[in-house]
Amino acid sequence: MLIIVIFTPLDQSLTIEKHLIMAFELPKLPYSFNALEPHIDARTMEIHHGKHHQAYVTNLNKALEGSDSQNQDISEICKNISKFPAAVRNNGGGHYNHSLFWTILGPDSKALSGTLNDAINATFGSFDNFKTQFGNAGATRFGSGWAWLIVNGSGKLEICSTPNQDNPLMDIAETKGAPILGLDVWEHAYYLNYQNRRPDYISAFWNIINWDEVAKRYAQLTK
Ligand code: MN
Repeated sequence: MLIIVIFTPLDQSLTIEKHLIMAFELPKLPYSFNALEPHIDARTMEIHHGKHHQAYVTNLNKALEGSDSQNQDISEICKNISKFPAAVRNNGGGHYNHSLFWTILGPDSKALSGTLNDAINATFGSFDNFKTQFGNAGATRFGSGWAWLIVNGSGKLEICSTPNQDNPLMDIAETKGAPILGLDVWEHAYYLNYQNRRPDYISAFWNIINWDEVAKRYAQLTK
């Protein structure tokens, strides 16, 4: 087959670019499915990433089909979520939340040090207090949802939780801020390995946090 490439003047190609609708895509998992074992099993990761997150992406694209919002940053959509239908809130939230979740997890969790560690100690009294409060936020979230560590509007750390696929970026959130750490407490995140034992899953979470990524997010929000 002969492929002819026609070069257009720069300004014209930019015009074409502007009208091209980019669909949201499932981000690649930054480690293998079994990398978080024994804390999160490979089968759970495979289904969670490949089925659940993929479904949020597919349904978000369906909900925004033909709309310019498909070219928008997902965090910008979250910040204005009250202007969108419920399908965008649920699936856009799902896409944002899981995209963050995969990056703050990692196989070689090192102890946290530096500025974020200091801020956690100053805000919550001690790292253990922080763990207890964050764990409680996840454990007491009734039904499905997320626990979060956020940087709020005053630049301070705060713990909160959200129902379903809501997140603290959303303009409808009870507690607002930018998430730097999130924990998925939907049953699909832990049921195969932990069944109904959500507290055991939450305890295991502390072994698989990529603190470098969390600290990076904190530094970007507080610089
Ligand atoms: Mn999930």
